[in-house]
Amino acid sequence: MPQQTADPVKIAILGCGTVGTQVIRLLTEQAEDMAARVGAPVQISGVYVRDTSVERDPVVPRDLLTSDLAALIASSDIVVELMGGIEPARTAIMDALGAGKAVVTANKALLAQKGAELYEAADAANTDLYFEAAVAGAIPLVRPVRESLAGDRVQRILGIVNGTTNYVLDEMTTKGLPYDEVVAEAQRLGYAEADPTADVEGHDAAAKAAILASLAFHQRVSLDDVFCEGISSVTAADVAAATESGHVIKLLAIAESADDGVTVRVHPALVPLTHPLAGVRGAFNAVFIEAESAGELMFYGQGAGGAPTASAVMGDVVSVARHIAGGGKGPRESNYADLPVLPISAALTRFQLRLNVADRPGVLAAVSAILAGKGISIETVRQSAGAEGTAELVISTHRAPEKDLDQMVSDLRANDAVNAVLSVLRIEGE
Ligand code: NAP
Repeated sequence: MPQQTADPVKIAILGCGTVGTQVIRLLTEQAEDMAARVGAPVQISGVYVRDTSVERDPVVPRDLLTSDLAALIASSDIVVELMGGIEPARTAIMDALGAGKAVVTANKALLAQKGAELYEAADAANTDLYFEAAVAGAIPLVRPVRESLAGDRVQRILGIVNGTTNYVLDEMTTKGLPYDEVVAEAQRLGYAEADPTADVEGHDAAAKAAILASLAFHQRVSLDDVFCEGISSVTAADVAAATESGHVIKLLAIAESADDGVTVRVHPALVPLTHPLAGVRGAFNAVFIEAESAGELMFYGQGAGGAPTASAVMGDVVSVARHIAGGGKGPRESNYADLPVLPISAALTRFQLRLNVADRPGVLAAVSAILAGKGISIETVRQSAGAEGTAELVISTHRAPEKDLDQMVSDLRANDAVNAVLSVLRIEGE
């Protein structure tokens, strides 16, 4: 290893949980490599926790624990925020940026809700704000979108960015199990939180979608701009019907650009088995990007977990430490595009409808007429026998405006030949 003569770069770690502990381990175990890569020694200046007397993982040096946040920030060059949530993370980061410190964070919730003020504070202080771990854990995604694709035009992003929901849908698909049973098993195995709402209702994926859309389309997109529908209403029958039509159900984060604006949405969707995202199994994440010149790109890997997420945090720490040791600065926020973020009603999507209908002549014509009345044309229809005197219709449509969907479903429900609209799922990736 080369001899280091430069001043050490001092790192404050805020939060000592799943990710924080692994970052501390890597900074300690790989200190020599880090110094060689950065060009200066990299030292942990302290670890901010609520209670310094609590027993911690043995990799955390006890003498580094502190509950004096202001003093820790003041004595550090880089502040690595790994507490999560809005407060006190927001105030800590704003204080750090205000004092000219570089910041690394994994906090998707904070970036999706308060990103604008953080970017502005970083720009005002001419310092770095890095957040690779905030989207899809270990997968290098923020840097490729923010830097590698900065000379291209991203048209569309389709992502599986929540491991819990991918695990649940995958188990439902491969084992034919009902939603509740799989969620309970995921909680037992530690793949799902005791309160799984943020994952299963799509809020976590929506935060990541907002961050990715902001970077890809060079404009501000916040959590409130993202249409969000979770997987809690997906049934075993939906999964079986998807398999029968050559699809798999995935919770997708979708960001698309058009001339008149961008749409950003999270919802379950039928993905054809031939699409690369269909093969993403278990708790893995993957993001599929379509760019004008690059064409199709796919990023795949572990979207969560202490060590995988710490890998992404460490990459940011090295980048920022290199700037401190050798000069330079990472990219500023790019938000010049200023396009409107359109409501989901502006999106054009294909649907698969599952209907229970009366098994009598003329029903298909009546259903077709309702769809045609909304300008929605049918691509395929599959009919199978239902309970006595009924049939199940599975109808796939061509692309149609989302704005007509709710009314079309209401019209179907109001028709006396339709016993039930069993499900309406969007089809993506075809
Ligand atoms: P975690 O295990 O819950 O740890 C959070 C840590 O922050 C705990 O040590 C906690 O202290 C500390 N903390 C929370 N509030 C605090 C406060 N008010 N003052 C001082 N300390 C406070 O969380 P995590 O899973 O490591 O996640 C950290 C960040 O990484 C989050 O933003 C999360 O979204 C992001 N992330 C996590 C993953 C993952 O797989 N875990 C993946 C990607 C991104 P106590 O020890 O006292 O509870």
